[in-house]
Amino acid sequence: MRNEVFIAGQGIAGSMLGWACEQAGIAFQVFDPGHKAAASRVGAGLVSPLTGQRLVPTWRFAEWRDEVLAIYRRLEQELNIRLVRELRVERRFRDDRQRDVFLSRIDRPEVAPWIECVKPAALLLRGALQVDTGLLIHHLRQRWLGQGRLREVPWSEAPASSASPVIWCTGAMAPPGVAIPWELSRGEITRGVLPGLVQDTVLNNGHWILPCSRDQALVGALFDRGNLGAGVTAAGQAELAGTVQRLVGRPMHSPVGESGLRVNVPDRRPVVGWVDKHQHVGVFGGLAAKGALWAPVLARQWAGDGLRGSAIENEARTERWIRSSDRRGHSS
Ligand SMILES: Cc1cc2nc3c(=O)[nH]c(=O)nc-3n(C[C@H](O)[C@H](O)[C@H](O)COP(=O)(O)OP(=O)(O)OC[C@H]3O[C@@H](n4cnc5c(N)ncnc54)[C@H](O)[C@@H]3O)c2cc1C
Repeated sequence: MRNEVFIAGQGIAGSMLGWACEQAGIAFQVFDPGHKAAASRVGAGLVSPLTGQRLVPTWRFAEWRDEVLAIYRRLEQELNIRLVRELRVERRFRDDRQRDVFLSRIDRPEVAPWIECVKPAALLLRGALQVDTGLLIHHLRQRWLGQGRLREVPWSEAPASSASPVIWCTGAMAPPGVAIPWELSRGEITRGVLPGLVQDTVLNNGHWILPCSRDQALVGALFDRGNLGAGVTAAGQAELAGTVQRLVGRPMHSPVGESGLRVNVPDRRPVVGWVDKHQHVGVFGGLAAKGALWAPVLARQWAGDGLRGSAIENEARTERWIRSSDRRGHSS
């Protein structure tokens, strides 16, 4: 068992890893200057069984959904907050062609379990989850601050003399000196007031509207790979206003836009594990738009064997990007 591990970054990746370390009895310290730029604060935390224009099964949704739900339920009890909801998704047909594509796929074995019914203008999907990742990282931060386990400074201000390994959970802020082909995209959402929605149903026509408490709703999310520094844009917010109009036929009131950066790699799988043979530097990233689903299970897999890394899901491992000849001794 290691003496202590340092975790740089406390979005959903760093939070779930810290919590999994707690569960496994591994000592840890977290460094994060604040959540202002955290995608986990902006993201909607939606986890859907099927996505895209061809109802593609979300990677590991079927296998991990129930485990993920149980982990968030346990956190709800520990932190005494409401974190997770089970939802339907009303997947509207954009046009006849899309309806034909969807209907041609609903009997496939990987699709059928998630189809609740076919409506005249939509498919109703079951099994989706929504996790309030912003609330979760806020509460774990308060807990670890109170326990002296979290320092509100960037990793560069960590004690230089320490021999403890560091695991980079810094989202879009790539770890220095780690040769992984990160791909960033900017996302925008809008929060506002939109009464009259069915509380347990997400509306989706490629973009989505998520009903929240007290007549609030979120609408999202845009993808932009070319303009990463733009923040919230007038064009993006107008596009989301158009989505609201198309899906419910009325405008959202008091809209406020937010933006954040998602992180992918070319094979669209997470990137988790040690990057050097001495296990001094690790990475937990590439969570794309699936952090709410992937982070809890991958954190449990990594911490569950004392952070050796042998239990991490094969397709998510760092090794696929870092050849063994390159897994050199690393100084962070
Ligand atoms: C608009 C939008 C909508 C989204 N919708 C969904 C959704 O519906 N469902 C879903 O599952 N996912 C969604 N996502 C993606 C989701 O937000 C990410 O998968 C997830 O939040 C990534 O978590 P993370 O911990 O890797 O990174 P982040 O949440 O970005 O956290 C990184 C943390 O590292 C800290 N940090 C950075 N540099 C340093 C440093 N040098 N030292 C110490 N700390 C540092 C930052 O302060 C930050 O707190 C969405 C993202 C966006 C932008």
